[in-house]
Amino acid sequence: MNRPAGPRQKVDPVSLEVFSTAAACPDWAALAGTAQGCVACPELAATRATVVVGDAPAGARLALVGEAPGADEDRTGRPFVGRAGRLLDQVLAEAGLDRSAVAVLNVLQCRPPGNRPPTATEAVRCRGWLERKLDLAGPELVVTLGLSAAVAFLGRGVKLGEIRGRVHPAYGRQVLPTYHPSAALRFGPAGAPLAYLRADLAAAAALLT
Ligand code: SF4
Repeated sequence: MNRPAGPRQKVDPVSLEVFSTAAACPDWAALAGTAQGCVACPELAATRATVVVGDAPAGARLALVGEAPGADEDRTGRPFVGRAGRLLDQVLAEAGLDRSAVAVLNVLQCRPPGNRPPTATEAVRCRGWLERKLDLAGPELVVTLGLSAAVAFLGRGVKLGEIRGRVHPAYGRQVLPTYHPSAALRFGPAGAPLAYLRADLAAAAALLT
């Protein structure tokens, strides 16, 4: 299992505790139950309504990793259920991908207040959960949605416009970055993010045929 920090980086003991706790979960149900009690990020734990673990249908060959739950996800406990989720479902269907057969996860399991981006510390602290979930789901391909998720796998300083649409090896996984559906909504139907999201999910589908 990958660890959240390299040998020359300062190790966050809370992150290591999360890694150990998550790694000890033998299956998805155990992880989903245990994660509900996580308080590794004090601000998020104090303000969230639910811990949104995500979906991982058996045999999923593709995993989508977004940024963090929003208000609708926090309220329902399900990933990608708001406007961005509906757009994601639509674009997946256009690519011939059935959402019910795809694992859907986020960098963070708890909603940041006001939908702010995850801090670096929060992303590292939740990484143990994400890695264990990917281990349990066992997808052949990970598609990251948006910059936060791309950074989580490929490191700071990446530019989404430069890395999107291509497969990159990272953390022992095959990772294809693309835009977040929220960006596609923000830039509208004629905007580049929607066009790239469509093209990149079609590329992901082609890789899995
Ligand atoms: S975001 Fe992740 S690590 Fe932080 S409190 Fe929530 S479940 Fe725990």
